Amino acid sequence: MDQNEMMDLIKRRGVRDSRVLDAMAQVPRHLFVATPQAGSAAYGDFALPIGHEQTISQPYIVAVMTEALMLKPGAPVLEIGTGSGYQAAVLAAMGMDVYTVERIPELHQAAQGLLARLGYEVHCRLGDGYQGWTEFAPYDGIVVTAAAPKIPKPLIAQLAEGGHLVIPVGRPYRTQFLWQVTKEAGTILKKDMGGVAFVPFVSPTFKAG
Ligand code: SAH
Repeated sequence: MDQNEMMDLIKRRGVRDSRVLDAMAQVPRHLFVATPQAGSAAYGDFALPIGHEQTISQPYIVAVMTEALMLKPGAPVLEIGTGSGYQAAVLAAMGMDVYTVERIPELHQAAQGLLARLGYEVHCRLGDGYQGWTEFAPYDGIVVTAAAPKIPKPLIAQLAEGGHLVIPVGRPYRTQFLWQVTKEAGTILKKDMGGVAFVPFVSPTFKAG
């Protein structure tokens, strides 16, 4: 599958936001995939390994999650789980003000280097994403790309009024659901977007709880 075929599939499956589609048609996904052998598979509609037992998410799911953020041009957006940097690159290609947090030092460094080399302006931080990134809050969008047992409270606090948080919730390697959480007049509205499969959100806070 090549990039055009990947885009056709994403459109066929119902993603409509032209800014998401334009960005995903531009970002060279094959450069975010770990092994050169994976080059031809990079545009297939599945997740691929990126080392350290982590994966770059399936293109269709990246599109759905990005669309569900419903971002206005230039909006501040926080990603938890930088991984390969691909989701962050898509957001940057859409012209968003992107902040991303990763807990694994090697992945953080590799993604930061690659994003800079490709000219994507993304602010990368190494740390536990449970805490979000308070300095630049609030964010109009927050996207979590690892499955958490429940929604980290600090992320809700860092979401702007009217903003959207998109997060897979569920147990590791069990049933997980993608939720779109909207903050409206101080309350939280949750919309279930269907079943997904993500690597676990790893945080000392959840272990302690
Ligand atoms: N968005 C990534 C997908 C990476 S997979 C991409 O486009 O490639 C999910 C990532 O979340 C992994 O790199 C994993 O290390 C990271 N992660 C898991 N728990 C985390 C936490 N508490 N804080 C920050 N990153 C976390």
